[in-house]
Amino acid sequence: MIVVIVIAVIFLALMLVALRVAITKPNHSEDDVHNPLIHASGIYSIVRKSPRDAVYEVKPDVEEIRKYLSNLNENINKFSPDAVENVINNWNKSLENSIKAVEDGDRQNVEFYYFDFEPVDCPICSNYLKKGQFVTREEIFNHPNLLPPFHLGCTATLLPHHGKEDLRETTELGMMPLFKRGKCPELPDWKSIPKQTTIRGSR
Ligand SMILES: [Zn+2]
Repeated sequence: MIVVIVIAVIFLALMLVALRVAITKPNHSEDDVHNPLIHASGIYSIVRKSPRDAVYEVKPDVEEIRKYLSNLNENINKFSPDAVENVINNWNKSLENSIKAVEDGDRQNVEFYYFDFEPVDCPICSNYLKKGQFVTREEIFNHPNLLPPFHLGCTATLLPHHGKEDLRETTELGMMPLFKRGKCPELPDWKSIPKQTTIRGSR
């Protein structure tokens, strides 16, 4: 019901914008007609590039993570060497899953991706995002750091939305955008570690 109202409101807003444009700009030039199309097709081809390189550029690399965790050990002795490797393995696995989700989604022209948690909710991410909140493919292209994991021991996942999944099953909120007014919200610091990620790692 809420979704229907939201769609109706968005539709109404778009109609009003269209009407306003029609009233205020009755004689647009030929350029105005053609530019949006060129722009759109240009964006489309860039957007569909694998996010792999971009995401590895913005996320900390394995050596940085290992160094951070061993420095942490000197102070609080929280992680055994096995646990450090476990956290790193989970980080790599999670990142590869996110990249694969987008690469697979691109083959099927998926436009929307939503967040979920696997196997358990992430206590740190719960302060930043909710299950079922979505981002567009273009937002991922512009902000590759949107691919989970967001921090050490993170259980957030990114899934392509094919239009078949019932997002009400993943969230009480329905399908809500993660971005507010087109701006990327703050995301967790990668150095955050959930309390349960202790001696044996979280998974
Ligand atoms: Zn998380």
